[in-house]
Amino acid sequence: MADDQSLAYKELARLRWLCEKACCRSCSGCSFTPVHANPTRGAGLFRRCKGCSQFQSVLVGTCFEGLRIDIGELYRLALEYVKQPLTQSPNVLALQRACGGSRTQTEHFVSCVLAAEVAEGRRRNARMSCRGALEGDAHRLRKLFVSERNPHFQDLIFQARRNRVNSGKQTPVQAVWAVHVRIAGLVHRGGKIAIAELPLKAVAKKAPPPVESCLTLLLVVLVFFLFVSHLVRNET
Ligand SMILES: [Zn+2]
Ligand SMILES: [Zn+2]
Repeated sequence: MADDQSLAYKELARLRWLCEKACCRSCSGCSFTPVHANPTRGAGLFRRCKGCSQFQSVLVGTCFEGLRIDIGELYRLALEYVKQPLTQSPNVLALQRACGGSRTQTEHFVSCVLAAEVAEGRRRNARMSCRGALEGDAHRLRKLFVSERNPHFQDLIFQARRNRVNSGKQTPVQAVWAVHVRIAGLVHRGGKIAIAELPLKAVAKKAPPPVESCLTLLLVVLVFFLFVSHLVRNET
C-alpha cells in the first residue's frame, strides 16, 4: 500500500497535480525527511520537517490541502477526472464508480479541483477581462523581423518610431524592427467567439509585444463583424 502511494505521489508530482517542493507551515524550513505513510496520522503520505520535527501532509500547499485521502486513490481520481467531458460539470457518481472510493471522499476531491479551476479561471479572466460578461484578448501568430529599409513596411516602421519618440524612449537607429501578426478574439461568456485579424504592428526588436486596449479589440472585432454580416446579408 505504501509503495502504491509512493508511486502515485511521484506520478502526481510529475503531472504537476502535486509538488515535491514544500516548506514547513510551522517554521518555514524547506528541508524534510523523505515522504512516508504514517497510519497513526491517517490516510496519505507525510514528510517530517528537519527544522522543527513537525509532520506535514504532502497535500499541504496544494489544492487538496485538508483532504485526508490515500495518495493512490487521489491518483486514480485524477486520472479518471481528466477523462470527463470538459464542458460538463464532473459526474461524481461516475467518478466514484470508476475509482471505488467513498461518495464523500469523491465529492471532496471534486470540490477541491473545481475550486482550483475557478481560481485559475478568475486569474486568467482578470488579465483578459473587458467588462461584464465580455472578454477579449489578442494572440500573436507570428513575429517578423523586418529591415529598416524594407520598402513594404515603411509606414509601419515610421509609426513605430513615432510611438517611441512620443513615449519618451530613446531611439537609437534600429536596423531591424519586429512586426507582429496578431488576431483578436472577443467572447460573450457562454456564447460564440468572434475572431478578427488585428492590423500589423511594428515595435523595436527587443520591445515587449504590443498591447491593445479593450477598446481597440472591441472596435476591430465589431467593425470586422459588421462588415461580414453586411456581406452575408447582401448575398442572401
Ligand atoms: Zn518546521
Ligand atoms: Zn465533508
